[in-house]
Amino acid sequence: MTKKKVVLTFPAENIEQPITYRLVKDFDLILNILRAEIHEEETGRMVLELEGPDKAIEDGIAYLKDQGVDVTEAARDIELDIDECVSCGFCTAVCRPRALQLDDETRELNFIKENCILCGLCVKACPLGIIKVKF
Ligand code: SF4
Ligand code: SF4
Repeated sequence: MTKKKVVLTFPAENIEQPITYRLVKDFDLILNILRAEIHEEETGRMVLELEGPDKAIEDGIAYLKDQGVDVTEAARDIELDIDECVSCGFCTAVCRPRALQLDDETRELNFIKENCILCGLCVKACPLGIIKVKF
């Protein structure tokens, strides 16, 4: 049995589909939903841990892609070199779960790790490249 953590982005038209149910029923996968959210523009994002034989995981991911779901491997961890941060706020603007927040008074960046869904958007957003993703 293998475990694989993935980030799924659902297009608006698929948000009501029982896609995760199908992963269990048709592919016999064990699912652990680590985070799920729906955005204003009605796309959905889910961080999911899939558990099962390699082939079943592979087939399940192929099924998701066929359904128009964007599938990316979730990061294992996010590392931030906070001493280099210039508090520009580019990363907080893309961090929907509010794992990255600028203190209103001090303007210091706080990383609230338990809110992080490992989507990796902050990595691309930081102009200084001080946020790194670990796979
Ligand atoms: S990876 Fe970055 S943008 Fe995504 S939730 Fe974690 S801190 Fe926020
Ligand atoms: S984008 Fe980079 S420099 Fe700007 S606040 Fe975030 S971590 Fe700091």
